[in-house]
Amino acid sequence: MRFNLKTATQFGGTSACTATVLAWLFGPVADPLVKQAAEQLDMWIMTWAELDPQERRETRRTWIIAPGEIFAGKKLTRPRGPVEATIDTLMQLGWKPGAPDHWTFNTSESVKLDRKAHTRFIVTARALHDAQGNVWKSAAKHAYSKGLETCIPSFEATRKAKRSFERNDLHKEAKALEAVDVGTYRPDKHEGLMGVCRRCAKRVRRGRWHDIYECADNDLIEHKAFKKATRFVKHAPPHRQPR
Ligand SMILES: [Zn+2]
Repeated sequence: MRFNLKTATQFGGTSACTATVLAWLFGPVADPLVKQAAEQLDMWIMTWAELDPQERRETRRTWIIAPGEIFAGKKLTRPRGPVEATIDTLMQLGWKPGAPDHWTFNTSESVKLDRKAHTRFIVTARALHDAQGNVWKSAAKHAYSKGLETCIPSFEATRKAKRSFERNDLHKEAKALEAVDVGTYRPDKHEGLMGVCRRCAKRVRRGRWHDIYECADNDLIEHKAFKKATRFVKHAPPHRQPR
């Protein structure tokens, strides 16, 4: 489903990262993996609220058996019901599914399901946050995505830069920025190899490091936005060249 969503965008058929495309175009919580986790838990909260005492007792029993079955990887003989789906979601978020109405977050704080709107809000907010963490952790396993596992990335700087390009009628530049942002481009096959730079004609270790930080040809680019960005690059703390 996520892949189909990406296919339907202008980045369909490119090597852009699905998680990034969805977050960039539709917002941080639009990814089905994020939305479904929050929806599953919210649905459970409403279901639990409707159960009578007898149903609650039975549900508590099912709840105790279910995590063991999920851990054992046992194929459930009956269709996966709301209990299994909810426990599965809780475990994927890294929460502890202590009881049908008592869950522990990955921060060790816990929540007791009552009928308060505030509780529902907390669960949804936490689920949306932690599910995003999972999305980026798995996106980080793809090529050239290292580092994404450390946090939920912000697109604010890119959005700001894109708006600024558009305001200044730099539409091609805005499009290029967007394409880079979602991971459409890959380093070319000479990245990191010694060779002659096509721009400054010097023998260098080719690749993005040289292109951005070292190439003397950069001084010849007169583009206003480029000049401004270059000032930042020059004042940025020293980086280590990736090997
Ligand atoms: Zn060069």
